[in-house]
Formats: sequence, structure tokens, C-alpha cells
Amino acid sequence: MTDTNHTSSAALTLGEALGNLYAEGTPPPCHGSLLWTSEDAEHRAVAAEHCPACPITAECLAAAVECREVFGVWAGHDLAKPAGRRAAQAAHEAAAA
Ligand code: SF4
Repeated sequence: MTDTNHTSSAALTLGEALGNLYAEGTPPPCHGSLLWTSEDAEHRAVAAEHCPACPITAECLAAAVECREVFGVWAGHDLAKPAGRRAAQAAHEAAAA
């Protein structure tokens, strides 16, 4: 059975983390950029290089995996690609272990 409350929790946690960054005047690297959601895989690859500098990668990864996102760059993973989704899932499971 799908645990929808858990999924909502991860998305809410990400929203709170983003809100804190904006309140501190330090938006995440993806703020205002179209690279993260570009149709061009090369653009998304450039975007992914900027995610490691983001202070909320853990929250971003959890929300992406638990909400089963299938497009865009999340926490440095290109979820438009099956390999990117597998890598994100593995990273999420490793973080939870
Ligand atoms: S980890 Fe990457 S995609 Fe997620 S909020 Fe930070 S910069 Fe944006």
C-alpha cells in the first residue's frame, strides 16, 4: 500500500527547507534557472553539477524519490533518465540506512 502521508511529509519538509533558505536570503542554486527543467539533457547535466553546493540536497532527494518525480534535476540526479532515477533511489536508500 502506498504511504501517501509519508510522501506528503517529504514534500512538506522540502517546502519548509526552501522557505528557510529564502528567509535567510540564500536561495538554492536552482532558483530562477531553467536549466533544471530544460528539455535539453546537456542543460540538465550542467544543472546537476550545481546541486552539490546546495544545503538542502537531502530534503530535495527525499521529496523527489518519495513523490516519484520523473523529470528535471533533483539533488543532482537527472530524473528524466532511467539511470538518474535509479541513482536517486539508491542514494535515498543509502541515506536512510
Ligand atoms: S538540491 Fe539542486 S534541485 Fe534541489 S533545491 Fe538544491 S539546487 Fe535545487
